[in-house]
Amino acid sequence: MPAVKTHLEPTAGNSPRRHAPRDGEFIAADWHTDLRTAIRDPRELCRVLNLSPEWAEQAVAATADFPLFVPRDFAARMRPGDPNDPLLRQVLPLAEESHTITNFSLDPVGDQAAELTPGLLRKYQGRALLVTTGVCAVHCRYCFRRHFPYGEAPHSLEQWQPALQMIAADDTISEVILSGGDPLALRDELLAELAARIAAIAHVRRLRVHTRLPVMIPQRVNEALLAWLTDSRLAPVMVIHANHANELTGEAAAAVRRLVQAGIPTLNQAVLLRGVNDSVAALAELSERLLDLGAVPYYLHQLDRVQGAAHFEVPIAEGLAIMEQLRARLPGYAVPRYVQETAGAAFKVPLG
Ligand SMILES: *Cc1c(COP(=O)(O)O)cnc(C)c1O
Ligand code: SF4
Repeated sequence: MPAVKTHLEPTAGNSPRRHAPRDGEFIAADWHTDLRTAIRDPRELCRVLNLSPEWAEQAVAATADFPLFVPRDFAARMRPGDPNDPLLRQVLPLAEESHTITNFSLDPVGDQAAELTPGLLRKYQGRALLVTTGVCAVHCRYCFRRHFPYGEAPHSLEQWQPALQMIAADDTISEVILSGGDPLALRDELLAELAARIAAIAHVRRLRVHTRLPVMIPQRVNEALLAWLTDSRLAPVMVIHANHANELTGEAAAAVRRLVQAGIPTLNQAVLLRGVNDSVAALAELSERLLDLGAVPYYLHQLDRVQGAAHFEVPIAEGLAIMEQLRARLPGYAVPRYVQETAGAAFKVPLG
């Protein structure tokens, strides 16, 4: 597949697949500054958090093909001096990332096979997923798309046209999911226009957004975003991504509340991660916190076996035991569905 050359193309020295935003990539807005000033140097992250230089050395060595990227607002929610902080664990590169582990692949969920046209994935009936950008507001070390060839995906209205035509040609598609990367890393003007073009396709009923930005850079939930999401003919659905209750404090909690108060159904997906949320107490508190904010726990994902993330894996048997205790402790609606994505399956497969 020929690589599409765009201004989003990563530069030499950066990851060949993922990159942090550069100047001029976004129209100035308050959240734009938060993206630009995010921490990119492991040494700085360790300095800010009072961690010994050994952690930084390890992190520098492990970032060769997936750079560190941590918004300051998120770093401020971490406990200084604690290398085991559950938020830090999600973003701190460890030496284990470089180990090659059998059964951990570059494309664990069969994204490549599900690509209808560049940037459009179709795995499940009725839903089509648009990979809108490779940019994220944070680099999660366990990311299943950490090796996705974002450089080849379309990044502009013109380049999305073939994907939109395919959606228009298939009247079984009732929901379009904006994903990435993180779709909310794009400008609201662009997203509003994309949403309008999707709304012009009569058989599409819902527009879903998969994003970590409300949690990472809470200022992103601004008036312009709420306007294009709620002014549309399409019913909006927001799926945020938080793995631990400590992520949902202060401004991030307020951002989730703004979404809910705007009438947007807001769901959360989390990934079961060793050292982050692999306990009944952590997951119960995550659900309670979401409910405090009016959001709903949706999925708890079994880790996708992507190369570099093996040290985050929790065995399914352990996950099932945690789920059993969660069920005994929480209202039914507060228990997320524990699922695993299996390449070729017709849905995210429930584990129990
Ligand atoms: C996860 C995913 C969806 C959404 O699945 P739901 O079970 O509806 O949340 C849709 N398309 C693709 C390609 C996905 O990976
Ligand atoms: S925000 Fe999502 S897509 Fe981006 S690095 Fe994290 S898990 Fe991956």
